[in-house]
Amino acid sequence: MTATVIDGKAFAAKVRTQVAEHVTRLKSDHGITPGLAVVLVGEDPASQVYVRSKGKMTNEVGMNSYEHKLDVDTSEEALLKVIDDLNNDPAVHGILVQLPLPDHMDSDLVINAIDPAKDVDGFHISNVGLLGTGQKSMVPCTPLGCLMMLRDHHGSISGMNAVVVGRSNIVGKPMAQLLLGDSATVTIAHSRTKDLPDVVRQADIVVAAVGRPEMVQGDWIKPGATVIDVGINRIDAGLKDDGTPKTRLVGDAHFESCAAVAGAITPVPGGVGPMTIACLLANTVTACCRANGLSEPDGLTA
Ligand code: NDP
Repeated sequence: MTATVIDGKAFAAKVRTQVAEHVTRLKSDHGITPGLAVVLVGEDPASQVYVRSKGKMTNEVGMNSYEHKLDVDTSEEALLKVIDDLNNDPAVHGILVQLPLPDHMDSDLVINAIDPAKDVDGFHISNVGLLGTGQKSMVPCTPLGCLMMLRDHHGSISGMNAVVVGRSNIVGKPMAQLLLGDSATVTIAHSRTKDLPDVVRQADIVVAAVGRPEMVQGDWIKPGATVIDVGINRIDAGLKDDGTPKTRLVGDAHFESCAAVAGAITPVPGGVGPMTIACLLANTVTACCRANGLSEPDGLTA
């Protein structure tokens, strides 16, 4: 292996420490405690794990955490009422509605009901527009985490060729906007892209966000390039001693072959994943500062 492994776990811990320090100052100097409300509809086990972990980390950095758990058959109207109450609650600076929502709800309508200033996921159409036009916005957490790691590793990414594989609204598109905002030359690839390996081979920075286990291979990577692997895929890994099936987490890039060629790479687990929650906390403290007309912490937003 030649690549430097970018330690997202350690970097996320650093971001959380910065957030915690800022929270301490907000409390001592202004008597303000940032608050994050997380709304979960239904009992999807993965979502429950995420929500628990978000609540725990929110408390660990000294912020208030408010959890709203609603039954799976809650009406859309009732959910919108919860969001309206949170929008009007001065103790709540960030609101996150855990996705996916049940089928009877219109996710776009629900997300766009959140006050854009409290939209710490950065999915509200106003924030999407602000990001796209280079204005101050709430930035989606996963791409923000990727940008922070790239800035930390490279200093500046200005003029570099970046290829983002994946064009989803939550990762690929905002990632491309952020890279463009930092003056990279950006290509967005997707399932209809022709000669994808050749496209990826042009990249100084590859962001893999496809949801396909280990799809990006080492021979797609330009020697010395940086690979940011957003993917989280659980694959079969044989059987445990007791004969039950074993699984393991892998990214969208094949780690060993990519690490043999790349200059730097994020691992899975321990790369982008931990940065996502750290950036959610960062966005909450940013939202709190903006709501109170206070200066924002340095380095915690785009
Ligand atoms: P989506 O399924 O919404 O989007 C996947 C994108 O990949 C689409 O744009 C799709 O193209 C493209 N794609 C699919 N197959 C191919 C292919 N064979 N070649 C080229 N492009 C392809 O996924 P998300 O963006 O939500 O997530 C991407 C990955 O990131 C997943 O593994 C997910 O688990 C992970 N993730 C990780 C997070 C973290 O915190 N680390 C947070 C969010 C996501 P098209 O549009 O043409 O269909």
